[in-house]
Amino acid sequence: MPDLKVLILGGTTEARALATACAPVPGFSTVSSLAGRTSDPRLPPGPVRIGGFGGVAGLAGYLREAGIGAVVDATHPFASRMTDNAIAAGELVSIPVLVLRRPGWTAEPGDRWHRVPSLSAAAAMLPGLGSRVFLTTGRQSLFPFADVDDCWFLARSVEAPEPPLPRRLEVVLDRGPFNVVGERDLLVRHRIDVLVTKDSGGAAPKLRAAREQGIPVLMVDRPGLPPAQTVGTVAEALEWLNGV
Ligand code: NAP
Repeated sequence: MPDLKVLILGGTTEARALATACAPVPGFSTVSSLAGRTSDPRLPPGPVRIGGFGGVAGLAGYLREAGIGAVVDATHPFASRMTDNAIAAGELVSIPVLVLRRPGWTAEPGDRWHRVPSLSAAAAMLPGLGSRVFLTTGRQSLFPFADVDDCWFLARSVEAPEPPLPRRLEVVLDRGPFNVVGERDLLVRHRIDVLVTKDSGGAAPKLRAAREQGIPVLMVDRPGLPPAQTVGTVAEALEWLNGV
């Protein structure tokens, strides 16, 4: 029987971990797909393709031509357009689609979180909460803060962000994984008094450092759950693939 060819929609730690986990499994082959947002991405093992497909129709055409038998959407929890496209394209060509989403974060004792529904809601709440902001929302999510003139911002991203940007901004170019000691040092050195983050899930030394320092956190809620079977771990995704 031919291998089951799996398209892994990536750009996350989980997508790389799934490609790694599939590599030694007989009966599977994978193609990982990246959007191409970063110039030097961390690559998963195995074949990789880079760049958009051209919407639902483009992805459906790719699935057919490449002989894909199953799709695992392991994109970032906030990459909802890609997830919606994957589900729609899978339906068009009758290929099963699984969504792999790491769980979001839950507050612990000592946390001072304010949950907000969007980046613009976070921007609106900021001036009342603090004046020196650590913005960890990623370089493509800085524009909603561009008009917040009352605050000074420290933004961290893998590559330099593009305008529109906040007027009073310092950028740290860095890529994780981060650790609590480093995050604590960053908060103290820059006299940060409020942290803004998406509820991305996964390891979160920045949240622990904020908790220790008593710093409030603006936590941007995830988009709603996609209308497809969804699992939270690579092991569950492998189990699903075994049943395809
Ligand atoms: P998005 O808004 O959901 O997607 C916009 C378009 O980018 C899609 O319609 C698709 O273009 C293309 N695209 C997205 N992910 C792709 C993939 N894995 N392979 C091929 N094309 C892809 O996505 P986004 O929020 O801009 O995120 C882009 C990538 O960065 C994703 O792969 C995501 O996992 C990663 N990422 C996102 C965030 C975040 O906060 N959003 C954080 C960390 C990493 P076409 O319609 O032309 O196919």
